[in-house]
Amino acid sequence: MAAKPVKPASIAAQALGWVDDKTRAIVLPIHTSTTFIRDADNQYRSGRGYARDQNPTFDQAEAVLTALEGGRASLLFASGMAAATAVFQSLAPDDHVLAPQVMYWSLRNWLMNFATHWGLRVEFIDMGNPDELRRAIRPGKTRLVWIETPANPLWTITDIAVSCDIAHAAGAVVAVDSTVATPVLTRPLALGADIVMHSATKYLNGHSDVIAGTLTTREESAMWARIKTVRAQIGGVLGSFEAWLLTRGMRTLFPRVLGACASAQAIAGHFARHPLVAEVLYPGLPSFHGNAVAAKQMHGGFAGMLSIRVRGSRKTSGSGESAAIATAANVELWKRATSLGGVESLIEHRASVEGAGTPAPGDLLRLSVGIEDTNDLIDDLEHALELAQS
Ligand SMILES: *Cc1c(COP(=O)(O)O)cnc(C)c1O
Repeated sequence: MAAKPVKPASIAAQALGWVDDKTRAIVLPIHTSTTFIRDADNQYRSGRGYARDQNPTFDQAEAVLTALEGGRASLLFASGMAAATAVFQSLAPDDHVLAPQVMYWSLRNWLMNFATHWGLRVEFIDMGNPDELRRAIRPGKTRLVWIETPANPLWTITDIAVSCDIAHAAGAVVAVDSTVATPVLTRPLALGADIVMHSATKYLNGHSDVIAGTLTTREESAMWARIKTVRAQIGGVLGSFEAWLLTRGMRTLFPRVLGACASAQAIAGHFARHPLVAEVLYPGLPSFHGNAVAAKQMHGGFAGMLSIRVRGSRKTSGSGESAAIATAANVELWKRATSLGGVESLIEHRASVEGAGTPAPGDLLRLSVGIEDTNDLIDDLEHALELAQS
């Protein structure tokens, strides 16, 4: 690459500028081989013996992500869940873990129903409030503090730098689920975090056609060595084709994320003043609880995710929940589906997905803003809100 260190957007666009040595191709080949030749003297000088954890097609995606996050090393996993659970599986029974009350639903479920059964002492706290973290952390006993910011589905903001100071003073490691922020907007390792996790299924790949997860570490710690062993031995690895697609997806990460952020900000502003909307939850709104902290640790935008709370129909005296479900039923351009971070905009009645115990109120619709025309998205949603009133 250029002599002067280039900006992250340039690193992503060229996927570090790697070129295939053999052919000089600027797009690297997909390696599908599961095994590699051993040298005649019984060594593996290539450094590769078996593709479960030594797949050459992982290298570029992992290197790009390490550069974007400013870390030491990265690992690809078969899904975001495989990446996240590998962090917890590197701990020992009886270790104390703090996790947020508002967080990605499936991981919360796994922590409640599997990790605790397996011996971890998991405590859920209001992670957005540093005083709660100070109160709950047990010096020498708490091994891991798990943060998600902005957090599903209320977009609760957690101050990464402040949380890291509190956690590190107590001897705990901090891992951040940065799926929604992406390395475009936030670099948790620079703020003190030890590990960053992504569901690469979302913004990193960005095209709703790959399930993948990643971890990036600030240093080659003993914990990172255990995480590598978890991946190699439990074997939750990505396929070659998916790893290659992920590298391709990350090349357009910056324009996709920045476009979605600008659109989400405009959509949030529009519906914050809308008579059929009771509340807009978006970190980029000055009225939002976490706005000041978000402005401190997010750069270039406040993410492409927001939620709206729909007012009940005055005409039919219906509830906000039925108006929300009817709104989702009446959109055309927005797609009624779960997931987030793709180029197409998605809308979802979140309480229906999460079920009992969800922090999502019944009148809440979660919006993942894609890269369509902003006014088309506003018009479609506005029309659906009006139809839901009748
Ligand atoms: C989707 C998601 C996950 C889980 O990732 P998968 O790739 O679906 O396994 C974890 N955290 C967040 C914030 C997510 O949005």
